[in-house]
Amino acid sequence: MNYIARRKKHRIDKHLIDILRLPMIFLRVAIPSPLRKLFDYLPPASHPPAEILPGTRLLVPFGNRKLVAILVETVSQSAVNKDKLKAVIKVLDDSPPQPKFIFDLALWAAQYYQHPIGDALLQSLPIHLRKGHSCERLHEFLFHALDKPEQPLNSRAIKQQEAYLLIKQHQNGISMDALKAELGSIAALKPLMEKGLIEKRHRPHKVKSSLEPLREPAKTLNPEQQVAVEQINLHRGYRTFLLDGITGSGKTEVYLQVIEQVLKQGKQALVLVPEIGLTPQTVFRFKARFNVNVVYMHSNMSDKQRFQAWLQARDGDAQIIIGTRSAIFTPMANPGVIIIDEEHDQSFKQQDGYRYSARDLAIVRAHGEDIPVILGSATPSLESLHNVTLKRYAYLALNRRAGNAQPPSVELLDIKACPLNAGLSEQLISVIQQHLTAGNQALIFLNRRGFAPSLSCHNCGWIAPCKRCDAKLTLHQKPPHLHCHHCGSQKPIPRHCPDCASHELSAKGTGTERAEEALGQLFPEFPIWRIDRDSTSRKNAMQEIIDEINKQQPGILLGTQMLAKGHHFAKVSLVAILEADSGLFSTDFRGMERTAQLITQVSGRAGREEILGQVIIQTHHPEHPLLQCLVQQGYRDFATEEIQNRASAGLPPFSHIAIIRAEASNPGRAEAFLQLAQQTPTIEQVSSFGPFPAPMEKKAGVYRSHLILQSGKRPLLQQFLSQFCLQLEHHPLANKVRWSIDVDPYDMF
Ligand code: ADP
Ligand code: ZN
Ligand code: ZN
Repeated sequence: MNYIARRKKHRIDKHLIDILRLPMIFLRVAIPSPLRKLFDYLPPASHPPAEILPGTRLLVPFGNRKLVAILVETVSQSAVNKDKLKAVIKVLDDSPPQPKFIFDLALWAAQYYQHPIGDALLQSLPIHLRKGHSCERLHEFLFHALDKPEQPLNSRAIKQQEAYLLIKQHQNGISMDALKAELGSIAALKPLMEKGLIEKRHRPHKVKSSLEPLREPAKTLNPEQQVAVEQINLHRGYRTFLLDGITGSGKTEVYLQVIEQVLKQGKQALVLVPEIGLTPQTVFRFKARFNVNVVYMHSNMSDKQRFQAWLQARDGDAQIIIGTRSAIFTPMANPGVIIIDEEHDQSFKQQDGYRYSARDLAIVRAHGEDIPVILGSATPSLESLHNVTLKRYAYLALNRRAGNAQPPSVELLDIKACPLNAGLSEQLISVIQQHLTAGNQALIFLNRRGFAPSLSCHNCGWIAPCKRCDAKLTLHQKPPHLHCHHCGSQKPIPRHCPDCASHELSAKGTGTERAEEALGQLFPEFPIWRIDRDSTSRKNAMQEIIDEINKQQPGILLGTQMLAKGHHFAKVSLVAILEADSGLFSTDFRGMERTAQLITQVSGRAGREEILGQVIIQTHHPEHPLLQCLVQQGYRDFATEEIQNRASAGLPPFSHIAIIRAEASNPGRAEAFLQLAQQTPTIEQVSSFGPFPAPMEKKAGVYRSHLILQSGKRPLLQQFLSQFCLQLEHHPLANKVRWSIDVDPYDMF
């Protein structure tokens, strides 16, 4: 249609609308903006609005930018005057890229986590699609010849003839890749399509028979594992299972055998693992067992690679999908089960921006898709254990290590008044010596990277501070510099004290670099593998270190919590925790829970195979009831006690909380902003605490303030938050303050 004809048609359409009094249709759209609202647009001339379904991506004008947005609904009335509304520039999808169910889940999550809807919806899509790229796969289409033999093909268009005949020979269609290979160029396809001689059709999904999914035989389950697998497989519909299995008890084997059944029914499995748990070894275990397409998704892949994996999951071409947090929004054509490994892990909760919990969404999702969900952990979160008590979750326990491995012996080592060499007591040093001499490996856990946590002046007591944070600078020696672990700022090491000019500056305390140096002097004949963020920042560095460790020579593994999770080191017979005390007196109500989980997980690295493991925990507080309970009775008894503490304090899971965090460049401004809570009539049974300065008030040059909202009733808290967030958006200080809301926060900082 030429321009004039188009104008004319447009005028006729308008005329028709007027005489028929057809309602005008507006597109209500979610836009990546910090505002918690939808925006109305006029439909584009190219598409009848009724044909655009919710979930479809649109390109829209916004200010002077063009943004990728998502249609939420079509409406017949807009609060904005029609003449002021702009039209959608382009409809980016023929049909919504996500199935409706995932779109609804994303809408639900935006609401529940009180996050601006546009950002929340876009984050449920792969980055490739958020950028507005096409959702087609090149190999998704096949070209078919249409039967129009009488249609004259220009005899001079040899390339077109050649292409047409080739396509015609393939009665079931031929892919773009195959055509490219045969013809060299695919330039002839466009004119052929325009002439109506060929057409593109969706490739029918290959339905892969999964009746024999096994590549290697499954292990013979021990009785506890057998009960777990049977219980889960008995269930067809939704149910949440908490698989509480000590480290090395064979939880992964349970997942594998549940997945085996799922595959036999022609369904798919989604497995979420913590961020540092998605290693090549993890993926390898699944690939080695099954004869099916296993895809994985993590942040080190390119946008395109992740998008390809996402498409395969959505279209049922991938049977097992392994991913980290954001994979919770991956659609599945035939969902069969969702598994959350290490469900207590903090990486399932996004800690900035859109603060959703992938574990909690997994339960909502499984409920909606009517499939089982398995939460596995050696140290289940107190929330999940409490849900077992409430009979919301089914409980499955694995109390024995699989195979022949025995649980390690654990002891507390009182280091009060003991001389320490870089944090190591003499007694510990001699135990390390014994394990190395026996040909084994020792794992030393120190959750502090760098050389020393601070640099101070012996003469006047000055401590090197970060100018941008209320924090000390950490001393690093490799390479030498001072580093703030909170804002990342770096400085050279001063030669003398800036306050008193004394040269007596000394490192206080021990980080992994210092421990490495001391261990090198104590055990010069053994290798030391340091594993922390600094030593593994180079690509593949982690893998190289792990390969060295797995050569099983005697030596020392020294590292931070990167060592705590998931790894299976066959030769480690000793685990030493240099300092267990810092977590015992945390101001965060979850401090105890986290400390117990960390100690238990690290201890679980000892004695994974035939060798008997030993765990030594150095502490100044051996009488501390938490440590006593953990060491003598184990994590579950600790958890029972700690749940009682939470109950008497009215803390989660016995109440629900949200934190609103605000920050501004001027002191006091964030606090003034949150004062609004005091003027807002609270809903009955919702209490607000604060605003008060954040535990580290100044961070990266801004001043931070917190407001805590709490209620015993989730819906009431939700109701209050929705209304309060809108009020904050319209606060006079709103454009001078950055703020965010964290529903069900994992940490209180
Ligand atoms: P978890 O995930 O609970 O820490 P894994 O699944 O990694 O434990 O199992 C620990 C070790 O025990 C692995 O080497 C695994 O192959 C082995 N294993 C698990 N189940 C069995 C079984 N039923 N028989 C023999 N070995 C098993
Ligand atoms: Zn000084
Ligand atoms: Zn800093």
